Amino acid sequence: MSDSIGMPRVRVATTSLAGCFGCHMSFLDMDERLLELAKIVEFDRSPLTDIKHCGPCDIGLIEGGVCNAENVHVLREFRRNCKTLVAIGACAINGGLPAQRNHLDLGDCLQQVYVGRDGIEEGGVPDDPELPLLLDRVHPIHEVVRVDYFIPGCPPSGEAIWKFLTDLIGGRTPRLAHPLLRFD
Ligand code: SF4
Repeated sequence: MSDSIGMPRVRVATTSLAGCFGCHMSFLDMDERLLELAKIVEFDRSPLTDIKHCGPCDIGLIEGGVCNAENVHVLREFRRNCKTLVAIGACAINGGLPAQRNHLDLGDCLQQVYVGRDGIEEGGVPDDPELPLLLDRVHPIHEVVRVDYFIPGCPPSGEAIWKFLTDLIGGRTPRLAHPLLRFD
């Protein structure tokens, strides 16, 4: 697809692995600039589309760390198909909140949540074969695939995501000035 002056649009895919969708909400916080972005970008797999698999793309944005086998599969598919892969937010960069379970035994965690809690009768750890296999720890995405850029924050602001994307699409090395960098 092309924009109104015939330039090919930049194809962008996004996904949330072990994240809370807060980074995607921050993406939407670009507000009216989303309309500007829509003139130069078309979306592949993303919560904004109903595309199930990432196809060939210019940019892939990954929210969340890697906590299960499906996350590994999706992340590798993004790496294969995206020329530039970006870790967006603390969970993708260092595992974030989900990685707090890394210092606990996974079996104990599952027992605590599904079996040993007050109010649960005849509980059991879910074992439906459709459920993706949990990894014993939550990994930042760079431990699984090569990552080109990292946007810190929990979540990064919409302003930071806008600056990053417009730099990258404009052929400039993305640079976030100090006020746009956050680590909370
Ligand atoms: S970095 Fe923060 S906002 Fe983004 S997915 Fe993780 S917890 Fe949610």
